[in-house]
Amino acid sequence: MTTKYIFVTGGVVSSLGKGITASSLGKLLQARGLQVTMLKCDPYINVDPGTMNPFQHGEVFVTEDGAETDLDLGHYERFLNKEMHASNNFTAGKVYQTVLDRERRGDFLGTTVQVIPHITDEIKNRFRAAAKGADIAIIEIGGTVGDIESLPFMEAARQMGLEAGRENSLYVHVTLIPFIRASEELKTKPTQHSVQKLREIGIAPDVLVCRSEKPIDANMKAKLSMFCSVPKESVIEAPDVDSIYEVPMVFHKQGLDDQIMMLLRLRTQSKDLDSWTKVVDRLKHPKREVVVAMAGKYTDYKDAYKSVNEALVHGGIANEAKVKIRFLDTTDPKIGEQLDGVHGILVPGGFGDRGIEGKIRVAQIAREKKIPYFGLCLGLQIAVIEFSRNVLKLAGAHSTEFDQKTRYPVIDLLPEQKTVKDKGATMRLGTYECTLKKGSLSHKAYGTLQISERHRHRYEVNNKFRKLLEDAGLSIAGLHAPKNLVEIVELKDHPWYVACQFHPEFKGRPEAPHPLFRDFVAAMVERAESSPSRSAIHA
Ligand code: GLN
Repeated sequence: MTTKYIFVTGGVVSSLGKGITASSLGKLLQARGLQVTMLKCDPYINVDPGTMNPFQHGEVFVTEDGAETDLDLGHYERFLNKEMHASNNFTAGKVYQTVLDRERRGDFLGTTVQVIPHITDEIKNRFRAAAKGADIAIIEIGGTVGDIESLPFMEAARQMGLEAGRENSLYVHVTLIPFIRASEELKTKPTQHSVQKLREIGIAPDVLVCRSEKPIDANMKAKLSMFCSVPKESVIEAPDVDSIYEVPMVFHKQGLDDQIMMLLRLRTQSKDLDSWTKVVDRLKHPKREVVVAMAGKYTDYKDAYKSVNEALVHGGIANEAKVKIRFLDTTDPKIGEQLDGVHGILVPGGFGDRGIEGKIRVAQIAREKKIPYFGLCLGLQIAVIEFSRNVLKLAGAHSTEFDQKTRYPVIDLLPEQKTVKDKGATMRLGTYECTLKKGSLSHKAYGTLQISERHRHRYEVNNKFRKLLEDAGLSIAGLHAPKNLVEIVELKDHPWYVACQFHPEFKGRPEAPHPLFRDFVAAMVERAESSPSRSAIHA
């Protein structure tokens, strides 16, 4: 079958949930038995988001093949239950870099290199490469219509429509219908303007997805349809919902998938949303509630830990539990007081030394008070530092990331990292195999001895201290044998204490919760239920 392209653009404001919209659409078409792939274009100049602070664009999502990508790829993987790769995300910077490299090589000798056609051709090549083999490629264009930066991507999307043909391309515009409280009215004007802006570029949207905090009635839909020249059936309402995983159902109930199938002249027999419906059902009817303390750096910016938050939700689904996250202030010297009533402690990945001592303190409390502990990447390094200082009594033990002169560098750079000069894409990235120790908590969770997980870090457990750590009771439950690197540490006399050098959160899916997150939540449930006074059990 020829690949059909669906372009998703955003209007009026950013943060409308274009990624969730695109993923939900992908889920619905996948449920129709189609092979769906997704692509995200980011209009900024950074070659990839790997060098950016999470405050800028949220978490950096890592793919199996080690690409540092936009967090929307996480949504794509979670909704479609399918792996994305380096080719599923690219930035304006990457496009310009490729074109400029070719210019220097002499590929364009004699010509003036221009945005149209050279940049747009490179963008289209990347669209086609990502779409290869798929029935449907959903291409999400970052930014908002009207931005200077996203113009080359919009232009490439317009050209693709022309080349692929009417039946093989479709434009979905995600827009905002603001509610004006004083007059108690929903307003369509910003959407009208945004669609006009799109038309100026030569794109006429086929579908409008309208984000709004109030229901959009038939009159409003008729008005939007008339002013924006989109059939009424293609004006879709996207109200706020409790969980992002409900969005495919919200669209399905309004017939969005039927409409798209019709517009793209597609006909398939299957319509299988059973497993997704089950996920949403379990999510909406938890039998219990647990509270996890998250000892991260970005307390008020949840997108910085997107995949961790979602993996906890999935672990909750597996245990029919609602997992509430309490973000700790790790710079607070009295951090212990923030742990009242929590059923587990999670230390996520991170860079930089802000709040490090607070994280070490909570790891100590988790170990001593036997509170379930889950360390992710930096969370493993913290566990090792804490154990070295307080059990091995190596005063001042540290990671050389935070104290280059420490007497006890229990966490140190890998030898090959010591010569790295460029910061971009040079960490230990992507998937690596790991062998688990028989009988460990990790072995029990995964149910197998050979696993592979994704990485994004420069520092490692220093093998010089390994024997000391092990002899004192910190078990090395996972090892990357080819390079003899510690991947997992566990504590024996503890209900559940697991810390890993990799990032399991990237592989968590609502339809296939990650085994470590599943068991961590199970341990929290056990703690809550064994001492109900500390738990918050919901009727
Ligand atoms: N900063 C640590 C390192 O580079 C941990 C990184 C992380 O948690 N992703 O090794």
